[in-house]
Amino acid sequence: MAQVSTVTGMVEAEELGTTLIHEHLRNQDEAVHNQWPQAGAAKEEPPHEVAAGEDYDIAVREAKAAVDLGIKTIGEPTAMFLGRDVNFMKRVSEETGLQVVPCTGIYTYDHLPQFFANRDPDQIAELFVADIEQGIQGTDIKAAFIKCAADEPGVNENIEKIHRAAARASVRTGAPIMAHSRPASNTGPRQVEIFLEEGVEPGKIQIAHTGDSDDLDYIEGLLEKGVWIGLDRYGLDLFLPYDKRQATTKALLERGYADRVFISADSVATTDWFPPNIIDGLIAGGAAHDWTIRIVHERVLPELREWGMTEEQERTIMVENPVSWLTG
Ligand SMILES: [Zn+2]
Repeated sequence: MAQVSTVTGMVEAEELGTTLIHEHLRNQDEAVHNQWPQAGAAKEEPPHEVAAGEDYDIAVREAKAAVDLGIKTIGEPTAMFLGRDVNFMKRVSEETGLQVVPCTGIYTYDHLPQFFANRDPDQIAELFVADIEQGIQGTDIKAAFIKCAADEPGVNENIEKIHRAAARASVRTGAPIMAHSRPASNTGPRQVEIFLEEGVEPGKIQIAHTGDSDDLDYIEGLLEKGVWIGLDRYGLDLFLPYDKRQATTKALLERGYADRVFISADSVATTDWFPPNIIDGLIAGGAAHDWTIRIVHERVLPELREWGMTEEQERTIMVENPVSWLTG
């Protein structure tokens, strides 16, 4: 059977078990962090600024909570610009037993640094391939998938370049792609189109954050291409309220799409994207009230079982789909 790379080594695909495909152990702007290491992250327990080293403790706490809920593995889509640090992930994994599947790639909505602005997709793909075949950041930890993103600015020239680089690295290595999308900007169809143009098999393409929309025509339009979709931001009510996410998931299960969807939260144990008072406002105001690595198992799945999701459907979504996507 195929193997999958985790931050603690290769594992048999059948060892992945119950998997949340899209959760972050830490999210920080790596450039700001390098230049102003004193500028802190924030999350939870308002008003709360995360002290140096505390980001690790919080990541461990959240990872342990996940393990206690029966989660065996997470896909960790923290790429360049989100502060990817595989040694951090490895420490958390070793301390908690949570298996962590790392990625390569670039997370940007528009801007590219000069390094990438002046290189073509094949040269960028070389870097992704090195992460997949040799290892990340000087380690022998290999990337298991490729991350890219399109958001409000749409699939403009820079974003298309990164998508083509991701596609070429996927074609060369067989690694699947997770593409952050923004349904409100209709990015998904164009993202899929680029990947298919480059020769990526549809079964290796995951359009993340499709569940930020409850427009079933939009969603089925993607599914008809044979790609995976992420119903992966449970708890982020600011993009789509919880109840609408659940209604969409139920509709997709009724239409027979259990074998094409992922359920996750896109949680971050800590983030420096917003100052603590803004985070506090988002949590207290309800816009990100239950946005944690725990929400899927504490709330989403129990409700879906109550509603009528079968054991087989749950196993398909939480255990088999991650294996299928990661191993092709
Ligand atoms: Zn994410």
